[in-house]
Amino acid sequence: MSVIVFLVQMSLTPTKYIWMNGKLVPWAKAKIHVLTHTLHYGMGVFEGIRCYRTDRGPAVFRLKDHIRRLENSARLVGMKLPYSASRLIRATKETIKANSIQECYIRPIAFYGYGVMGLNPEGSKVDVAIAVWPWGTYLGEEGLRKGVRAKISRWRRIHPSILPPQAKVVANYANSILAKVDALESGFDEAILLNLDGKITEGPGENVFLVKGGRLLTPPISSGALSGITRDSVIKIAQDEGIECEEKDLSPEDLYTADEAFFTGTAAEITPIREVDGHKIGGGTRGPITERLQHIYFNAVRGGEPRYRSWLDYVK
Ligand code: PMP
Repeated sequence: MSVIVFLVQMSLTPTKYIWMNGKLVPWAKAKIHVLTHTLHYGMGVFEGIRCYRTDRGPAVFRLKDHIRRLENSARLVGMKLPYSASRLIRATKETIKANSIQECYIRPIAFYGYGVMGLNPEGSKVDVAIAVWPWGTYLGEEGLRKGVRAKISRWRRIHPSILPPQAKVVANYANSILAKVDALESGFDEAILLNLDGKITEGPGENVFLVKGGRLLTPPISSGALSGITRDSVIKIAQDEGIECEEKDLSPEDLYTADEAFFTGTAAEITPIREVDGHKIGGGTRGPITERLQHIYFNAVRGGEPRYRSWLDYVK
């Protein structure tokens, strides 16, 4: 996928309203000052959530878990959120309702606003916004069916002694952007980042799984991977399906010799990886275990799996 195709795919489709600091404001009026603290120094926290169409109306996938992670991200960087989890959950649903949208991506963000400059954010107001917009699958429809081509990045994943990889902090994504753009410019669809020990961590915005001998393998959170909610969902589905799953440090060679591999993430959902650094993964196409997990996951998010109904938060 070229950089241009990537940019076209990722362009925003405006909806009507964005929730900002307690109020729904028209999309075009949801603006901030150029001297907003987070714009300069990157200290903000955010989430990426999806809402899916179900036969009982729109439902948000694992909303409470995402808001809990937002709170934990804020806690890890000492940011005080001015709204409770229950207020943010209500605000998310209000925003979806106000926009009369059935399926969307949801982006809550908390950031230091306008008021002080200099590195110490003390005294800066924390602003919170929640935007929703229609967003197709992050790595493309074809990617979902046929798999994407990934590159082990020359950029290493941020080490916990530098920035907290467990928090979705705005600044962390400078690392992700460098890896993503490097992969696209090298003719690949996506990057895979190693940690400083040369072990696999994750993609720039997705977790990574391998299949070997019928078992799932994924790097542990201690590798520096984000504790992904899709990752957690896939581990649960695998357990329920009797597919063994082990969290284990993995090398690029483990990946090159895997039978199957896939990315997981709210945006990427479950996207097969068909090639890494020119090495074909398995048959060079979506593998059977990946397909089986995709099938259950896509049913679950749209309310078609009674055993996973508790993952859905219905908007109405
Ligand atoms: N890793 C990173 C760095 C991410 O930004 C994301 C997306 N939030 C993920 C993994 C996947 O997490 P989730 O399944 O919760 O979306």
